Amino acid sequence: MDKGWIRVNARDLSKIIASTVKTHIIASCIDDSSSTTPLELKLPAMGLKHPSFFMATSLLLLILLCICSLPSFALSRAMIKDDAKVLGRPVAFLQNLVGSQKGDTIEGLRHLKQYLHKFGYLIHSHSPSSSTTSTSTARNNDDEDTYDELLESAIRTYQQNYNLDVTGELDARTIDLMMKPRCGVPDIINGTTSMNSGKPTNNNHHRHHQSHVVLHYNVNPSRRKWAKTQLTYAFLNSGSALRSVTARAFKRWSAVTSFTFREVQDPETADIKIGFFAGEHGDDDPFDGPGGVLAHSYIPTIGLFHLDKEERWSTKNIPGMNEMDLESVTVHEMGHLLGLAHSSDEDAVMYPTIDNGVVKRELTEDDIDGITDLYKYLT
Ligand SMILES: [Zn+2]
Ligand SMILES: [Zn+2]
Repeated sequence: MDKGWIRVNARDLSKIIASTVKTHIIASCIDDSSSTTPLELKLPAMGLKHPSFFMATSLLLLILLCICSLPSFALSRAMIKDDAKVLGRPVAFLQNLVGSQKGDTIEGLRHLKQYLHKFGYLIHSHSPSSSTTSTSTARNNDDEDTYDELLESAIRTYQQNYNLDVTGELDARTIDLMMKPRCGVPDIINGTTSMNSGKPTNNNHHRHHQSHVVLHYNVNPSRRKWAKTQLTYAFLNSGSALRSVTARAFKRWSAVTSFTFREVQDPETADIKIGFFAGEHGDDDPFDGPGGVLAHSYIPTIGLFHLDKEERWSTKNIPGMNEMDLESVTVHEMGHLLGLAHSSDEDAVMYPTIDNGVVKRELTEDDIDGITDLYKYLT
């Protein structure tokens, strides 16, 4: 600590302003090590002319301060808790569902059904596509809070895709995984998937006759791809941070394919259009605020790449524990833009979930196998 200065947490600042007398006390009892927030302020400590009087007053006020600090500490804890709640708000309902199983009726199960519907595990009964036969996607017959057979089946498929114990019950590990931040692209598209549940080892051999089913590689089910290797991209709204991150992310894919990527100014003419959006943003797939879905992008040759503006994005080399690494998510979304789907390989960039504070920018063998298979005539 510098002489003549004190360091205080930003949260304590309002308290200090409210009482200059307290400032003396804080100066005498706050230590550098008590600082827990990155944002710190320095205040000048006042001179002490009457030590004995001051010591007595200090002692009295120290007791008062300690009493006053208790609610403040509790408030700080509450703020941290609220923060976590805000970050996971889109999927907070899942916390009430730990331990539930078939036959249960629990408030929040209908939201779970909506979650599973969003990512391709359930089809609503009123959906026109529900008439199609599918082994990976179960039909959702109602929007009630009931744990029926169809929900159990969808949970089983989810657990299979994410390498969990296939119990059909909402155990803690399953809920924990569902609560992680993730990509908004469904795991199962039109009833087919290249994740575990779509592979032949899972008794799905009867699907071999379907030309759209991809059994080994994590590419989009209809194998849509770009017919050219020189692609252009443009930003709809962004600063320089996204520009450099995007350039680095593209380079990772250029290194393992024949693709080249060039930035252009006019989004109208660009093959890939990149932008940040909040909530509803015109493609019928609204973002959900902090936590939950981070980004989504579209298979070739649509070329749209949208990021949730409300996430705590990091463009640093090492993101903070409550920050999401923009480059990691961008490399993942680039995979979709080139035609890859989700992979069950937890190390792969194309695995659907990623934690805050995690850096996952390097393409793995699984990612490279997928892109090589899809574009083998080009590479
Ligand atoms: Zn994805
Ligand atoms: Zn969008």
